[in-house]
Amino acid sequence: QPGALPPLPTLKESIHKHGLDAKKSLGQHFLLDPSVCERIARLGGDLHGRHVVEIGPGPGGLTRALLASPALDVHAVEIDSRAWPLLEELALHAPDRLKIVRQDALELDATQLTPGPRQIIANLPYNVATPLLISWLRQGADWERLVLMFQKEVAERVCAAPGSSAYGRLAVLAQWCADCSIAMVLPPGAFSPPPKVHSAVAVLRPHAQQPSPALFKAMEQVTAAAFGQRRKMLRAAMKPLGGEDLLGAAGIEGTRRAETLSVAEFARLAECHLARKQ
Ligand code: SAM
Repeated sequence: QPGALPPLPTLKESIHKHGLDAKKSLGQHFLLDPSVCERIARLGGDLHGRHVVEIGPGPGGLTRALLASPALDVHAVEIDSRAWPLLEELALHAPDRLKIVRQDALELDATQLTPGPRQIIANLPYNVATPLLISWLRQGADWERLVLMFQKEVAERVCAAPGSSAYGRLAVLAQWCADCSIAMVLPPGAFSPPPKVHSAVAVLRPHAQQPSPALFKAMEQVTAAAFGQRRKMLRAAMKPLGGEDLLGAAGIEGTRRAETLSVAEFARLAECHLARKQ
């Protein structure tokens, strides 16, 4: 293995040594099984020549697997100061390859951490997973791939098809910007402490062609209006954005409901909305 690490204490021993008892407020559910961490790291594909950003390394199980991969380096963004000394110890075994970023991921432009090609591979803190995902979608092709553990229900909302109850704003935004699929489902018992819900890893590969910031904003407005009143016909739900006029411009029947529209139809709506604003 290019980044092979020397024998290390078990994750349980490291957690105990550094007093890293899981904090609910920080969404801490740790992966202690190295083989699960390796499977997640492998979802990044061939990491040769890639920079990896990991959000929330915690005790470092996934970080170890990423360091053992051929990735050039791992930028580990952790808000919990109790985990920093543990990560500093791990960094001694991977000189120059593990960079600890002692910051709140919500306040960070992660593209600034490293040049491309770059990926995000993370077991996300579930309480901030959706806003983080939307900020990365906005950055689009700056990311080669996103490998993200969510609570299963959120991963399903990212990958949902039109017509399903999980299909909504998140599915449209994510699938408009990236190919999305669920690659792994894990039961609560895979984590310590176990969360109340199942978890799933979604893999997102941003498309080469990405919307401009103005078009992305238009899509956020269109999907917020359409799904804000998802049981209403679109001609009523879209009234604040121009109702029938906007729908007519996009060639979409006003009697339809949001969840029946394909991502391509939403893209037409966003383009027409933007054109009408200008
Ligand atoms: N990667 C570890 C694993 O798989 O065992 C821990 C995953 S745990 C679900 C989420 C991690 O994100 C925790 O270490 C937590 O402290 C960290 N975290 C929570 N909120 C954060 C934020 N806003 N910015 C950076 N890290 C955060």
